[in-house]
Parts: sequence; structure tokens; C-alpha cells
Amino acid sequence: MSMDHPFAITLDVGTSLANHTGSWRTSRPEYVHRLPPCNHACPAGEDIQGWLALAESGDYQAAWRSLTRNNPLPAVMGRVCYHPCEKACNRAGLDAAVGINSVERFLGDLAIAQGWRFEAPPASTGKKVLIAGAGPSGLSAAYHLARFGHAVTIREAGPLPGGMMRFGIPKYRLPRDVLDAEVKRIADLGVTIRYNERVDNIGEAMKTGGFDAAFLAVGAHIAKRAYIPAAGAAKVLDAVQVLRSMEGEEKPLLGRRVVVYGGGNTALDVARTAKRLGAEEAVIVYRRTRERMPAHDFEVEEALEEGILMKWLSTIKNVEGGSITVEKMALDAKGFPQPTGEFETLEADSVILALGQDVDLSLLKGVGGLEVKDGVVQVGPNMMTGAAGIFAGGDMVPSERTVTVAVGHGKKAARHIDAWLRGTTYAPPPKHEIATADKLNPWYYGEAPKTMRPTLALARRTSSFDEVVKGLDESNALYEARRCLSCGNCFECDNCYGVCPDNAVIKHGPGKGFSFNYDFCKGCGVCASECPCGAIVMTPEAI
Ligand SMILES: Cc1cc2nc3c(=O)[nH]c(=O)nc-3n(C[C@H](O)[C@H](O)[C@H](O)COP(=O)(O)OP(=O)(O)OC[C@H]3O[C@@H](n4cnc5c(N)ncnc54)[C@H](O)[C@@H]3O)c2cc1C
Ligand code: SF4
Ligand code: SF4
Ligand code: SF4
Repeated sequence: MSMDHPFAITLDVGTSLANHTGSWRTSRPEYVHRLPPCNHACPAGEDIQGWLALAESGDYQAAWRSLTRNNPLPAVMGRVCYHPCEKACNRAGLDAAVGINSVERFLGDLAIAQGWRFEAPPASTGKKVLIAGAGPSGLSAAYHLARFGHAVTIREAGPLPGGMMRFGIPKYRLPRDVLDAEVKRIADLGVTIRYNERVDNIGEAMKTGGFDAAFLAVGAHIAKRAYIPAAGAAKVLDAVQVLRSMEGEEKPLLGRRVVVYGGGNTALDVARTAKRLGAEEAVIVYRRTRERMPAHDFEVEEALEEGILMKWLSTIKNVEGGSITVEKMALDAKGFPQPTGEFETLEADSVILALGQDVDLSLLKGVGGLEVKDGVVQVGPNMMTGAAGIFAGGDMVPSERTVTVAVGHGKKAARHIDAWLRGTTYAPPPKHEIATADKLNPWYYGEAPKTMRPTLALARRTSSFDEVVKGLDESNALYEARRCLSCGNCFECDNCYGVCPDNAVIKHGPGKGFSFNYDFCKGCGVCASECPCGAIVMTPEAI
């Protein structure tokens, strides 16, 4: 059994059953690297298998350095990322996906506790880049551009960094000291962040500041309004405004009965916030069913646990004083909600609209060549807008709106901006074939159930803004890292070395891998079929 992979079976040297390999070869084995599906699914492009392997060996700092080559915010990401990597993880077919997100958080938190810093950037290139917005996309771009040696200035409209990570996501999901520590580490690379300095006109800002390129990452902050007739002393508020005011001195006054209108993560966050502010009743009104809610299932579960009430298939018709008229809906054959003409009344002290956000594009006025469609700025595959030297990413471009996508855009844009500043083009390296489950031998791996993350006691969840989901301790994080199957990449289990009937596998020592001695290899393919993780392929011999 491999030491680093205690859940994988290793065959002993000479245990091969296939001794008769024939005297001539029609195909030859080759060691390959395949792209693990987790890596393929991570919007920030993390080399998850690579950093999990380093964590497995106990070298946490090397794991953190490997992870942060792609993503500078692991402690944040380990809390708020919806972890599409885990949905793609091959281990899910065996027992349960590797807890990638929880190991990521463990590494991020350890780095903060240990005071690990990024390596100093290389000598300055003399090029200046302006970034509009210090949300995840702007911060990620700043980090990567600084590491290329460019001088980066972020102009941020607000008083503090983080964008929606601070002014949207509540503290009970992302404590602010964690966010501050990871932002500070980026600023320590020499990135200048100027607060309360909104960019009103990007063309002018670039000209007056002498910038060579710009990255726009202003997010989507204008709350969408639905036309709901309101009369009397009705208190109708926007979810983003309510969440934003949670960061200020004066907390919003929502009253005892709060109705939230919408079905996304913002609706859930604002309802859970209302409960923590003392609302006795927080009801989410949503026009479709639970299955069709854009919010993630685990978020809905957590909200239900905290006593949030849900009214599915309902729309708000009007608000009059403290009384709300709700119409029942029914899904038609195509799954669209249709009015039924059935009404009911809810009592509420405030109604909070959580119907999504639009982008404020006013900073682009006067810029030629831009294409704006459906309220967002169009960008090419290199993240550049129609205006030369002006790139954009995050919520203001067409994409899924998540922190991780925003971070991924920042990285991608930085690579293209760097190339553009050097007068070249960036060509991403060719992608390896994906190590799908059919490429593995799962029976080599023993059962090892996933570690559950501890959560805060329910009573404290509804009475405080303390963090709800806790991190793993070292032994759990190590256990979780060791559950990785190392899909498509050799983890030195020695099986190929052990089973080859012709001693054609050469072992180069720990960390150095293997190669084939083709003078001995008969092409029987037993190594490829006994490799647990699909790191050997048989390729036909050239005739
Ligand atoms: C309530 C809520 C909860 C969410 N929860 C999650 C979650 O759990 N997980 C997840 O992955 N995603 C979540 N999201 C989505 C996620 O927060 C966003 O997709 C992400 O923050 C977008 O990043 P961004 O950098 O594009 O923009 P933002 O985070 O919006 O940052 C943009 C920044 O630009 C600044 N700015 C705006 N205009 C200007 C200007 N003209 N000049 C200078 N600066 C400007 C803003 O002040 C802001 O700081 C949530 C969103 C909300 C609203
Ligand atoms: S950033 Fe998200 S998708 Fe990427 S490794 Fe972390 S949890 Fe997975
Ligand atoms: S088992 Fe490991 S390498 Fe394979 S998909 Fe899951 S995390 Fe990635
Ligand atoms: S290539 Fe050989 S040593 Fe590496 S994982 Fe596969 S069988 Fe094991």
C-alpha cells in the first residue's frame, strides 16, 4: 500500500499474472498526464490534484504556493466557492467527492495563521495598468499582473476592498478578518488600492494617469426593480442595499415580519440576515418551485434549518401598508409559472426585493468600439472589450456570476494584458485529455467516506453573525487530501513497476517518476491496465 495514498492498493513487485508477452510489439506504453476533471471544472483553473498531492505529503506551504499560483484567495474561496470541482470529482462515483473546498480552506487559514506571503514580484516592466473595482475579479487581475512585474493601481469606488465579498456575502459565511488578510497579502505585492475613487470615465482616467492598459471589474450593483404597486407606509427595500448597510454603523430596521422576494443566493442571505437582526418571521416568496430556485440546495437547507419560511409558486401583487397580496402560481407545460387568480394576504413590516442586479456602465461613456448586449459588456476570448487595451471581467461581462468565475476572469485577463503590453499574444498551453472515470481502475482504492465540516449550534446561528460552517483540523484535512485518486497523474504506487513481466519499467526514485525501457518491453499492456489512475496509455507502434 502506498504511504501517501493509504486508500489505494499497490501490487508487489513480480505479482504479474501475464508473463507471456509475445516476441514483437504492436503498441507501446507511454506515461501521460491527463487533466483531472476537478481541475477542468474549477473556474479559477486550480491544479487541484497537484496541490492535494503536496498536502498529502504534509508540505502544506508548498501546497498553498501551488494553489495560489492560480488563485490568490484560498481562505475566501474555501468558504464561498460553490465548488463545481467537487461536482466533477471522480471519487463521487466511488463513495463521495473529495472535500476539495474544505482542504482549500484549511490551507488558506493555515497561511494566514503562519503569515505566509507571496514571493516578491520580478523587476518592474515599466508598464502601468489601471483596474476599476477591488472585487474578486479586480483583485485577482491585480495579483497576477503584479507577478508579471507591471505597476498596478486599483481605483475602488467604495471605502473598503472586496466588492460583493464584503458588501454582499454576510459575515456568518465570510468573516471579514479572513478577507482582509488575503487582500492585504495582494496589496503587499506593491499593488496600490485607492479607495473612494470611483472611475467615472475610463478613457480620461487612463489618459490622465498615463496607463498602458485597463481592466474593468465594476461588478453588478444596481438592484433590479419589479413593478409592485405600493401604498401607505409600505417599506420596500433592495436586498443589496440592506446587505451593504450591514457593513455600516447603523443596521437596517426591518421589523418583526420580513418578506423577501426572489429565489437566488441574495434572497437567502438577506432572509438569514433579517433573522439574525431579530425578525421573528422571515418569509421568502418565490414564483417557481424549490427545484427551480437559482440558489444552491445546501443554501436552502441551511436557511430552512434556521427557520426561514418559503412560499414557492407565489408572486407579490401589491403592498399596502403592512399587508402584502400574494398570488398563487402554477407551472405550465413548459415549466413557466402562470397566474392562477388565487390570492392570499401576508402581514409584513418590510418587503425586500432580491431580483438580481444590473451593471452600471456609465464609466464607459465616450469609449468607441464597445459592444454592450443584455446590459453587459461583450469581451473576446482574450477578455478584451471592443476598445484596444481595455479588458473586462467578472459580473460585468456575460458569465455565471460567482466569486470563482470573477477570480478566473482576473487571471485570464492578466495573462492577455501581459502579452498585449509586450506586443505579443498569449496562447494557453494545449489541454490534456480529461481523466474521466472510465480511465481509472477504481477497485484499487479502498473506501474512505468524506469528512463532514462542523457547523455552529443552531441557537447561535440565529442570534449572532458568527461563522456557521467551521474548518477542518489538520488530521481531517490530511485524511481528505489522501482520498484523492490522483486522476490521470502518476502518484508512484509502483504497480506498473511491480507487474511488468519483462522488467521494462525504470524507477527514477521518489518524485522523479518512471520511464519505459523499450528494448525490454513487449507491449503486453499490463502496466496500463493495472495503473489505478490512468497515467499510462498504449499507443500503436509506427509501422
Ligand atoms: C448577496 C450575495 C451573495 C453572494 N454569494 C456568493 C457566494 O457565496 N459564492 C459566490 O461564488 N458568489 C456569490 N455571489 C456572487 C459574487 O459575489 C459576485 O459574482 C462577485 O463578487 C463578482 O465579482 P466582481 O469582481 O465582478 O464584482 P464585485 O464583487 O461586485 O466588485 C466590484 C467592485 O467595483 C467597485 N466599483 C463599482 N463601480 C466602480 C467604478 N465606476 N469605479 C471604481 N470602482 C467601482 C465596487 O464598489 C466593487 O467593490 C454573491 C452575490 C451576492 C450579491
Ligand atoms: S476555487 Fe472552487 S472550484 Fe476551484 S478548487 Fe476551490 S472550491 Fe473547487
Ligand atoms: S479524485 Fe482527486 S484528482 Fe480525481 S477528480 Fe477528485 S480531486 Fe480531482
Ligand atoms: S504510472 Fe505506475 S506508478 Fe504511476 S500510478 Fe500508474 S501504475 Fe502507479
